Amino acid sequence: MINFNVPPCAEKAMDYIKECVKNQKICGDGAYTKRCNEWIEKRTGTAKCLLTTSCTHATELAALLADIRPGDEVIMPSYTFVSTADAFVLRGAVPVFVDIRPDTMNIDEKLIEAAITEKTKAIVPVHYAGVACEMDTIMEIAKRHGLKVIEDAAQGIMSTYKGKALGTFGDFGCYSFHETKNYSMGEGGALLIREEKDVEDAEIIREKGTNRTKFIRGQIDKYTWINYGSSYLPSDMNAAYLYAQLEIADEINDARLACWNHYYERLTPLADAGKIELPTVPEGCVHNAHMFYIKVADGTERERFMNQYLKAENGIYAVSHYVPLHTAPAGLKFGRFHGEDRYTTRESERLVRLPMYYGLTMEQVDYICDKVINYFA
Ligand SMILES: *Cc1c(COP(=O)(O)O)cnc(C)c1O
Repeated sequence: MINFNVPPCAEKAMDYIKECVKNQKICGDGAYTKRCNEWIEKRTGTAKCLLTTSCTHATELAALLADIRPGDEVIMPSYTFVSTADAFVLRGAVPVFVDIRPDTMNIDEKLIEAAITEKTKAIVPVHYAGVACEMDTIMEIAKRHGLKVIEDAAQGIMSTYKGKALGTFGDFGCYSFHETKNYSMGEGGALLIREEKDVEDAEIIREKGTNRTKFIRGQIDKYTWINYGSSYLPSDMNAAYLYAQLEIADEINDARLACWNHYYERLTPLADAGKIELPTVPEGCVHNAHMFYIKVADGTERERFMNQYLKAENGIYAVSHYVPLHTAPAGLKFGRFHGEDRYTTRESERLVRLPMYYGLTMEQVDYICDKVINYFA
């Protein structure tokens, strides 16, 4: 049997967690949280990184910081995880879904401008599979219309667009360290803040509306309640687990890329023969091998190939992905689709994700490719 995902774990994780326990330093904003924040700041060049309890919470924080209010509209793809929309729906905003590009499954940047109304407040690009959205175009549109940009870079750590890290283009960027992501702390995430001016507000909202972060740094001698807020601090034990992986981030990334490239090479003849489609990585994008997917003819074919053939007959756990949000009960209730759904539904029904995780071996990739090739022969 080959699993779809195995959560990443670095060798040093247990030592670091033990250290937290031994020193009785297990609450939020301890030494390991600080190390993770600094590592991400250094690696991405963002002005500030704050570790959070999830990417969902990082996005909620971003929605609060962007001052999203009831009736505001937020433009995003429908082909994404629920949290992309939820964070804004919680503020009373309306998600306005725009169609995707079939080559990357990312929001079609050419359709964004037509979806802008007087109520539009923000654009939320989602970097699917760690492959960047067309950020030059998106940032230019946002600037011209005075809109905020909040990047859902849940899958995008270690990826770049024209040499710049994903999550650092928009006013805010959100990373996920869920166990299904390239780097994990079980449950966790990070908020990347582009401008210094937003850092203090972010620290306050993340710490229950208090200026406790300033107090911990010794900048004030007692802390108090000064704004609305919530609690978005992960335990330092979780940060310790994550930090062990960040220390070997390149090694993890290289191993994933090697698997991804091997899949791509071996399945290219099938794509050339018109049997399947492979992912596209546009010029200027460097990706992090978050996901390897193929596209089959349609939903019926997917069911047969993925569940019957790969899983039941060969023990390979491949999985589908998002059901478009605009077709879900909450999507119908809270959002609307702008324009025509040419690709969102059709492409989502054809997509199959093959096993991909740190620790997957080349032999396993070969075995999977043999089976895939055999099916389409
Ligand atoms: C995983 C994921 C999220 C949610 O991340 P959590 O850390 O589980 O909250 C949001 N958006 C996308 C695109 C994701 O892949």
